[in-house]
Parts: sequence; C-alpha cells; structure tokens
Amino acid sequence: MMLDRLRQAVDAGFAQQTAFLTELVKFPSTRGEEAPLQDWMARQLAARGYSVDRYVLGDLDMSHLPGFSPVLDTDYSRAVQVVGTRRAAAPTGRSLIIQGHVDVVPTGPTALWSAPPFSGDAKGEWLHGRGAGDMKQGVSAMVFALDAIRAAGLELTADIHVQTVTEEECTGNGALSTLARGYRADAVLIPEPTDATITRAHVGVMWFRLRVRGVPVHVARAQAGSNAIMSAYQLILALQRHTEQLNAAARQDPWFGGIPDPLKFNPGVIRGGDWASSTPAWCEVDCRIGLLPGSTLEDARRGVERCVAEAARADGFMANNPPDIIWNGFQADGYVLEPGSDAERVLAEAHQAVFGAPMEERRSTAVNDTRFYGLYHHMPALCYGPRGINVHGFDEAAHLPTLQQVTLAIACFVTEWCGVREVG
Ligand SMILES: [Zn+2]
Repeated sequence: MMLDRLRQAVDAGFAQQTAFLTELVKFPSTRGEEAPLQDWMARQLAARGYSVDRYVLGDLDMSHLPGFSPVLDTDYSRAVQVVGTRRAAAPTGRSLIIQGHVDVVPTGPTALWSAPPFSGDAKGEWLHGRGAGDMKQGVSAMVFALDAIRAAGLELTADIHVQTVTEEECTGNGALSTLARGYRADAVLIPEPTDATITRAHVGVMWFRLRVRGVPVHVARAQAGSNAIMSAYQLILALQRHTEQLNAAARQDPWFGGIPDPLKFNPGVIRGGDWASSTPAWCEVDCRIGLLPGSTLEDARRGVERCVAEAARADGFMANNPPDIIWNGFQADGYVLEPGSDAERVLAEAHQAVFGAPMEERRSTAVNDTRFYGLYHHMPALCYGPRGINVHGFDEAAHLPTLQQVTLAIACFVTEWCGVREVG
C-alpha cells in the first residue's frame, strides 16, 4: 500500500534528513547573509536531478507588482533565490509549487541561548537553533518528502517546483520574485511550523519607521531643548491606543473575531541621540502593525498617519516639527484560504492517513508567503508544516518526531496531488 511504501522511505531517510537540517541551521542566514546557504541548496537540488534556476532579487524589477514591499537600505545584489524544477515527461497530474524561506531573524544576545544559536545541536526529540523551527525544518521536509517518493520507486506525473526564498521575515519579495519570474502551478504548499494544522487565515503586516526630531541643548538647560526620544515615546503610546481601537473593531471580524487582540503593534528597533548629557536631536523607531484580511493597506496606513498626526498636534514641539513616517519593509495584505479547495481536501486526507486524526485549522496573527499565490494569483496556497518552539525567541527548536510525520504527510499529499507512476 502507498502509505506504507512512503513511510518506509521517509523513515529510512530520516537520519539523513536530520543531518541535512543540521547543515541548514549551521548557515547563519540572517537578512542579507543567505547567499552561501542558497548556493549550497542549489547544489543539493542539482545533485538530485532538478534543473536549477538561481538568481538574485537585484536582477528583477518588481516595484510595480501587487504585493511588493519597499526597501530603503537593503542590497538585493546578494539576495539569492533558488527554484529547482522537475518536469514530468508527459504530465497528466496537477502541478505543484512547494516553497520554504531560508532567511532567519536575528538571534538577540547569544549569552541567553543554552547552546550557540547556529550549532544545530540535536538533543532527544529536539533540534536546536535559530531557524531550526522557522522554517529550515520545513525546507528539509520539502526536499526529503520528494526524495522519499523517488526512493519508493515512484515518479511524479506532473511538474514540481521546489523553491527556497529569502525576505519572508521582512518583505515577502523573495516569494514575489518567483511569480515575477513566471513560476505557476495548480497548488502551492508552504511548510511553515504550524504543528500539523492548516492555516485558514493570516493577518496582514506593515512596517514603518518613525523619524522624530529634537533640539539639542545641554541637559542643564533641558527646558530650552526638545528630547526626540521622549517625543518618540509619546508617539509609541498613541500607537498603542490606536491598536487597542483596531482590536476592539476586530471583534466583529469573521476570521479573527474569536481571537483576543489579533492585531499587534510592536516598536521593534529604536535608535537616537548622540550623548547622554545632550537632549537628543533625533530618534528613529522601526515599527510593525497588523491589519485584518479584507481591509486595505491604504486604509491601515491612513489610520497610522492620522494617529501620529493627532499626537504630534497635541505636542508643543512636534506640532511645529511634525515627525515623518517612512513605509519601509512589509506592506503585506492578510489572506484567507477559502475552505473547499481540492488541494486542501487532498492534504486533509494525507494528514488523516498519517496522524489518524482530522487536520485542524489555525488562524495566524503573523504573515506568511501564501498571500502572494492565493491572493494575487488565485492558486490554492496551503500553509501546513511541522512543529517548532520559541520561533523568533531564545532556544528555538524543531520537534523531530512531528517533522518525520509531517514529511510523510507531505509525501502522501504530493503523490496524490501530482500523481505517480512506477519507475522501472
Ligand atoms: Zn516562517
């Protein structure tokens, strides 16, 4: 029976898959530093017989495309993307894009990790490291689910594109570039760490930078100056109140109404000032705020602009020296995977066969890349993957037993979706 053949192949390859994941984690692929990992990935796919398209974001002009996020200070000449394709000789099944991101968020102070963040150490059921959970384990599942199908003596009867992208954690422009380059399929699977649930909906996210001025004087005469850091603090408080109002309205939302405070505001980076005994003349705060699926980015931006303008008007200095808002990074719509697609039905059956229980759904208060395929190109985009803990935190880890099961579920899904024939 198909499930048993695939299970045998996934189990037989799992030690190798774990070693592959360790290799992935050892690349410190934070933003702008993904190229060595992507070069390695391209070689891995080529060695498996995929035809590989490797390119950098700097080669493409995407600024006119729906879903594009602006970037002010990032070098795209080293932002390598990889697409491995295996074409069926005479396709009879349904094609598939299987995609994962390899960029990871910064580690924070490494002293607070119990082992170095790029060690890839495995301890019992857990494999440790920044990106181990989100989502290098998902990338290993993509590659090894397809390996298992081959090892089981089967060949897909539809085209498959295996994509590893960057920029998922900040813009989504990596995923967008694969579409700009023309890759399409009948369905898309992204194995983010969802703990084997399907993502029904995710919120949108916007990034912006507040730029606040001040008047530098010696602190001895602070009353004659203006402190840009304290002004920024006022704006942060105003944006927190704005977010509370958004969350009160979100209680009526069909997808997120049941989730307390689904929209999060985060002042994530702050810099400013030059000297402890001078009132700071400048302050910049990089912020992130969520929005509901179905609401427009334009409206959400206007809301933020109105909030900041009102807070500035109420302040003696900022009323005459209004702060700037710079939209830089994520300008990401929310997305709903409409229930009832064939792709979701096939995945649910694969999940049921492997886990012996129905596939549950989740609603995510963070973005993922599915919006590009689902929202702008109407391909059913399934976000379903293994289990990770402490993603974006200290001691991030991948849960290996769940990874093994999810790899099998993906192998079952792919064989059923794309179709297979016996080799030799
Ligand atoms: Zn992720």
